[in-house]
Amino acid sequence: MKQVQQHTIMLFNSLTGKKERFEPLNPPFVGMYVCGPTVYNDVHLGNCRTFISFDVVFRYLQHLGYKVRYVRNITDAGHLENDADEGEDKIAKKARLEQLEPMEVVQRYTVGFHRIMERFNVLPPSIEPTATGHIVEQIQMIKKIIDKGLAYEVNGSIYFDVRKYMERESYGELSGRNVDELLAGTRELEGQSEKRNSLDFALWKKALPTHIMRWESPWGEGFPGWHLECSAMSTKYLGEVFDIHGGGMDLKFPHHECEIAQCTAAHNKKPVRYWMHANMLTLNGKRMSKSTGNTLLPQEIFSGQNPFLSKPYSPAVVRFFMLQAHYRSTLDISDEALAAAEKGFRRLMDTLTLLSDLRPSEKSSFDVRLSVQKVYNALNDDFNTPVAIAELFEISRLVNLIKMGQESLTAQDLQFLSDAVSKLILDVLGLENDQASVNEPNKFDAVIQILIDIRNKARADRNFTLSDSIRDQLLNVGIQLKDSKDGTTYTVI
Ligand SMILES: [Zn+2]
Repeated sequence: MKQVQQHTIMLFNSLTGKKERFEPLNPPFVGMYVCGPTVYNDVHLGNCRTFISFDVVFRYLQHLGYKVRYVRNITDAGHLENDADEGEDKIAKKARLEQLEPMEVVQRYTVGFHRIMERFNVLPPSIEPTATGHIVEQIQMIKKIIDKGLAYEVNGSIYFDVRKYMERESYGELSGRNVDELLAGTRELEGQSEKRNSLDFALWKKALPTHIMRWESPWGEGFPGWHLECSAMSTKYLGEVFDIHGGGMDLKFPHHECEIAQCTAAHNKKPVRYWMHANMLTLNGKRMSKSTGNTLLPQEIFSGQNPFLSKPYSPAVVRFFMLQAHYRSTLDISDEALAAAEKGFRRLMDTLTLLSDLRPSEKSSFDVRLSVQKVYNALNDDFNTPVAIAELFEISRLVNLIKMGQESLTAQDLQFLSDAVSKLILDVLGLENDQASVNEPNKFDAVIQILIDIRNKARADRNFTLSDSIRDQLLNVGIQLKDSKDGTTYTVI
């Protein structure tokens, strides 16, 4: 625990709008909850950015010696199409459209999500609970809120009473919304819905006869409201009050406000000490959206198969690109930006190799401890990865000067620097040398070329069983062949 005492982390608390000294409730233990994906489609690149940001938080806290319990849920029920508690369940809709069981949809996209996280070298959380696995806990929590007089039943659905809650507690603090205005502005909508007030939100919804995903409850068959699962699961695994709650900026309102209200109503205490929100990712300066075609999926970056890209980029390069911006800033992704990031990433990886090859000198010409401390200072300052990377580049510059004989380090200092830099780059930033699998690129290339030649020969002989089998087996191990008039090329996806 020596390291924990050495470092003071200042983190920006979205709730107070200030950087605060991070002091866990029960050091060295840290409880951290991050809202996970709703598994009804392929994971969005913007979501990947959020999970990569919190992966660095998780990795850094562990690196400093904290024992982190990191809970990141899977939403597999209850997330409706809009925030007004109307519309179809996203997973049930996908299941209906594709004629699948909802759990088939859940399984397919959960597996897909895990694969992408692994490609990005995002560590699995300590616990990954699902909404459907915690229906009992959610029903218990609703009962508690009803007992406190802060929820009401209408036709088998239960709604949280925001107006009543506001007589006792504040609401809207996290998102900075002026709730009085919202209440006044939406008064005319009342009477058209089951809710007493348009700000009220569903804790439990009665299942219509067509709704497939349904559970027994004291109020009849239904399903939980989306906001409730995070409150029930964070309470179960991290306690009524825990250290860090994270998520994407877009979840502040209403999702996180609702989480705070539910927990405070049930337990009479605010659940979270530090709220952290990761900012948005745009593509070529515009919001990503399927309807306008301004989208980019992780797999498309890895394969280079998207009209916005000139070539494929490895997951490690994309991760590095994302870490070059602070998690609270918006970040714009483009082909040029990725190409620039790729160069920087290679430079950092080359530094690691170079460090292990340098010759020691009698004397050190600079203070290695100070250089390394600057990287830690950046990370201690609200996980400022862009500054940490800039400091690593400064180390990279010095390392190159050592190679040229213009700077020098003793054997001991070289060892210290090499250990510290590789820990920071590989363990904390989670960057991996994406050429490790193709350590000897020429040999690797030659082997693939042999397979391409055999496949072409098979095709020429009209032996399509063999040619297709070669293509499919290569794809299974992540090598995609692409035929064009100029011949066959391959990409590592
Ligand atoms: Zn959540």
